[in-house]
Amino acid sequence: MDKHACRACRGSAGHLVLDLGEQPACDYFPRSDDPGPDPVYPLQMWLCSSCGLAQLLADPTVPEEPRGAEPAALVAQAADAVQRVAAAGWLPGGGVVAEYGSPHGGSWLGLLAARGLTPASASGRADVIIDCFGMMHAADQREALAERAARMAPDGVLLLQYHALSTIIGCGQWNALRHGHYAYYSTTALTGMLARAGLTPRTAWPFELYGGTVLLAATRDGDGPDAVVRSMLADDAAAGVRDPGAFAGLQHDIQGHAKALRDWLAAERSAGKKVVGYGAASRAVALLCQAHVDRDLLHAVIDASPAKQGLRMPGTDIPVVDPAQLAASRPDEVLLFVPDLLAEVRDTFPEVEGAGGRWVDAATLGS
Ligand SMILES: [Zn+2]
Repeated sequence: MDKHACRACRGSAGHLVLDLGEQPACDYFPRSDDPGPDPVYPLQMWLCSSCGLAQLLADPTVPEEPRGAEPAALVAQAADAVQRVAAAGWLPGGGVVAEYGSPHGGSWLGLLAARGLTPASASGRADVIIDCFGMMHAADQREALAERAARMAPDGVLLLQYHALSTIIGCGQWNALRHGHYAYYSTTALTGMLARAGLTPRTAWPFELYGGTVLLAATRDGDGPDAVVRSMLADDAAAGVRDPGAFAGLQHDIQGHAKALRDWLAAERSAGKKVVGYGAASRAVALLCQAHVDRDLLHAVIDASPAKQGLRMPGTDIPVVDPAQLAASRPDEVLLFVPDLLAEVRDTFPEVEGAGGRWVDAATLGS
């Protein structure tokens, strides 16, 4: 294999910091009657020694993500974010906006139109560039950032939202690593990447989404990082985002988390409890594969996306089923793979708790 070149700085020195072994592509949902085995690929995170960007080492998979239903938590966060950015004076009235969205869906353009911003032409310049979980999907990070910077008007602003690497490390979110997500940003590494693209971080807003998400504002000129950005950089240093040793806990958590899930499911089965999962997300795929869970232990994973109905989870025989079957199946426990959905699903499916069932956050098992 050729030596890996950093996706941002092209450096070749770095460390393998997280290794999930051979994993099926998390967006490859076979038909439920497809016996497999599903193709598997190495899934590894590499930390660049030169620029500090944590990144996917290799990705031989081809993305074919069925676009999911957008969680209410994500919609609410977007509205909150736009409100906060506007209040801080970063949205020029009558300005032009260009959006680099996530292939998983969700757009801020409607919210921004309501603030008087109009969309840019296909490759035209913009006063505001919005990138909400978009750039992480670019294999070439340097090129992706350069493209965004090139579209910024001279006094424009880039608003970049990302799941913070310090959250992934601090919360043991090893299954945030997935094919198709090429970069795992720390504010520290991103600051360096921005500098090489001629940009400076100015301010940032933290959100609780995914345990810790950051929206960062960067411009060409200006005063440099404010106190909020500086405190995020200090948090990064405390978490050790540039230290390969800081990732050891993540690697260690894989087996502990997988064993805790298996033991819990086995105990529930022994106790005669009926358990179903909720949320056929990439982190559910990684967790179920690492724990070798099959349909004997987990009968089904409920998912709201019509595109996933009639399919099964990659790497296991667990079927993905329609939310309509949730009430009918009267589970004792619903294992929630996407904790940000908790408020929404409790609200949408009151019959679960009404029948004495409970929601269980899969991320907290064994912790
Ligand atoms: Zn690098």
